[in-house]
Amino acid sequence: MEIGKRNYKKVEYHNLLAAFKNLITAKHEEEEPITVTSPLLPDLKEFISYLEDIWNRKWLTNNGHYHQELEKALCEYLKVPYISLFTNGTLPLMVALQALRISGEVITTPYSFVATTHALWWNDIKTVFVDIDPRTGNMDPDKIEAAITPKTTAIMPVHVYGNPCDTQRIQEIADKYNLKVIYDAAHAFGVDVKGESVLNAGDISTLSFHATKVYNTVEGGALICHSEEMKKRIDHLKNFGFEDETTVVAPGINGKMDEIRAAYGLLNLKQVDDAIASRKCVAEAYREGLKDVKGIRCMCDLPQVKHNYAYFPIFIDKAEYGLSRDDLYEIMKSRNILGRRYFYPLISEFSTYRGLASANPANLPIAHQIANSVICLPMHAGLSKKDIERVIKVIRK
Ligand SMILES: *Cc1c(COP(=O)(O)O)cnc(C)c1O
Repeated sequence: MEIGKRNYKKVEYHNLLAAFKNLITAKHEEEEPITVTSPLLPDLKEFISYLEDIWNRKWLTNNGHYHQELEKALCEYLKVPYISLFTNGTLPLMVALQALRISGEVITTPYSFVATTHALWWNDIKTVFVDIDPRTGNMDPDKIEAAITPKTTAIMPVHVYGNPCDTQRIQEIADKYNLKVIYDAAHAFGVDVKGESVLNAGDISTLSFHATKVYNTVEGGALICHSEEMKKRIDHLKNFGFEDETTVVAPGINGKMDEIRAAYGLLNLKQVDDAIASRKCVAEAYREGLKDVKGIRCMCDLPQVKHNYAYFPIFIDKAEYGLSRDDLYEIMKSRNILGRRYFYPLISEFSTYRGLASANPANLPIAHQIANSVICLPMHAGLSKKDIERVIKVIRK
């Protein structure tokens, strides 16, 4: 009796879902795709004039004019003392670990882009995952101390979706156990807490300027540190370890940003404030449009934080909403609304890391729950009112 009833319900549910999908795909095949992100592009004419200047200078990389200008401009814009530009956002993570001579074990989060943990792997460091806080998606500071062993040398949190971590708590723990803190701040470009850049927290913060991020240099990234000495060390490490023409002080790598992308970055910096303001409007429209939808949770702006609206995640409660996350994801896709399941699967589920004791799902219940319920909605400065309405309408059914 019991089983039969359940099966009937299941069949009914799937029939309904299929009928619903047919209905909407048939009606809306012609609709333009709305992508999860769209790159911020500088004015092409201005970029060409910068290219002409680069052609005249005939200096393409190795700390050229535009590279120096962009480092200066970013220090000012981000309110940070020292920045080193990189060719992408993964190398700064790898170099940060080298610069601080991290070894042994590092405590980090499974709820991130996989590069965070890959940087540890490339440095022969053991990854130790801790669970996350469902309100922010960030590492739960309450879980850190239990994960510390005599081999722990650092904590590597991520400001997920640009939500600032509890940097004060994390620093207190780090100080108590004499650990370094490296923030993967790939999502936190321009994020302030009480008027101060979140990028100044910890020993080092890293940024990504990948095409999909709030601010991009096509590919690119940066590392932020707090002393001239550390910046020098980092600049050597990103250039094969060269200190001068004939001296190699460390086994460095090649992580240098070239002049063309530095010039592109200077132009994009001029419009990033406008882009963030547009993103904020998109976030507000989504929140307003979804506020009374049962089973859909949005993230709130945090008090005293200047957000960058890098992502707009929603979390689906199947029991309340009536459809699972994957059902909604597929329905959106069938309507050409291309949300993404960031971050699913968790890093701890990938084959490289699955065998670690800390990757056991029993150690990461919240991370699993969040990863299994998230969809990041389309979020970029170019979304129109009509686009936003289309997204909201599909979710509202
Ligand atoms: C994008 C991203 C990176 C890697 O940046 P790349 O520039 O693509 O190398 C690292 N960590 C997080 C959290 C990211 O989102």
